[in-house]
Amino acid sequence: MIDLRSDTVTRPGRAMLEEMMHAPTGDDVYGDDPSVNALQDEAATLAGKEAALFLPTGTQANLVALLSHCQRGDEYIAGQLAHNYLFEAGGAAVLGSIQPQPIDAAPDGTLPLETVAAKIKADDIHFARTRLLSLENTHNGKVLPRDYLQAARQFTRERGLGLHVDGARLFNAVVEYGCPLETVARECDSFTICLSKGLGAPAGALLLGSKTFIARALRWRKMTGGGMRQAGILAAAGRYALRNNIERLQEDHANAAWLADALRNAGADVSRQDTNMVFVRIPAEDVSAFREYLRQRGILINAAPVTRLVTHLDVNRSQLEQVALRWQHFFNR
Ligand SMILES: *Cc1c(COP(=O)(O)O)cnc(C)c1O
Repeated sequence: MIDLRSDTVTRPGRAMLEEMMHAPTGDDVYGDDPSVNALQDEAATLAGKEAALFLPTGTQANLVALLSHCQRGDEYIAGQLAHNYLFEAGGAAVLGSIQPQPIDAAPDGTLPLETVAAKIKADDIHFARTRLLSLENTHNGKVLPRDYLQAARQFTRERGLGLHVDGARLFNAVVEYGCPLETVARECDSFTICLSKGLGAPAGALLLGSKTFIARALRWRKMTGGGMRQAGILAAAGRYALRNNIERLQEDHANAAWLADALRNAGADVSRQDTNMVFVRIPAEDVSAFREYLRQRGILINAAPVTRLVTHLDVNRSQLEQVALRWQHFFNR
C-alpha cells in the first residue's frame, strides 16, 4: 500500500528492529531502564534542556506538560486548531480542570501576540488565571518564523506566562531552519516531540524542560498511566530515530514539493505544500468515489474536500509518480 494518510503510518525497518531486539532494559518506573535513560539524556543534550521524559504518545506528553505548567483553575492559550486544544479529547479540561482559551491562528500558523495579550485575564476573582501560552510547530505543516519564536519568548517572559511548544513535528521545522534543535528549544520553557511521526519509531514521545518541571511531569506521567516497565524496547527505536532519521526529513519535504508540482501538472487543485504536507481540493461529490478508486489501486488517502497528503520514510518518489498518474486518470476520465 502507498499510504499518504499521515506520517504516523511508518513501520520500523530492519535496522531499527535490530536495535530494539538488542536493547538493554530494566523497570523504568524504578528509573532502571538503561535504554530509556540513555534516550532521555541524549534528547536533553540535543535540545540543550536540563531534562527529558519518555512517554507513550504525543497526546500524553502534551497533557502531562499542561498538568505540569498549570493548576486547577488555571488557563492556557492555544490555537483553535491546536492539537492540544482540538484533537486531544479535551484532556487538560477533563483531567486537569485547566481551561483552554483558544484563539485563531494567523495564516502563517502563529498566534498573534496582540491577540494573546488581549486574552490574558486580569487578576480578578471572576477569571481563570492565565498561566501558559501553547504554540504548535509545525502547525498543519507550517514552520513558525524564527523571529516569531523569539518574540513569543520575550512576550511570555514580560507577561509572566510559561511557554510550551507542541513540537510533534518540530524536527520538520528544524531541518527547514537549518539550525540545531537547541537554537529553537532555547525559545520555550517546555516542548514535546513525537518519535512516531516522521522520525519513524513505532511509538513514543518526549517532553523536555527544566529539571524541576520534568520532576513534576514524572508524577503526572505515573498518574495518567504512562509509567511503562521495560520500555527500553521502544526507547531503542527512539534512539535509532534521533540518530538516523532527522536529516532525512528533508527528503520528505522534497518529495512533498515534487508531489505538489506533479499533481498541479495533472490538473489537481493544489492549495498549498508546506514541509511534508500537501493540501489538495477535491470536488465534494467525488470524495468517496475517489477514495475507493485509489484504495482499490493500493493507495490510501484521507479523502476530503480539502485532502491532506503526507510524505514520510515509507513512501518514495516512484510511488508518488503512481499517485499523480492515478489522480490524472480519475479526474480526466
Ligand atoms: C500527532 C500530534 C500529536 C499527538 O501525538 P500522538 O502520538 O498521536 O498522541 C500532538 N500534536 C500534534 C501537532 C500532532 O500532530
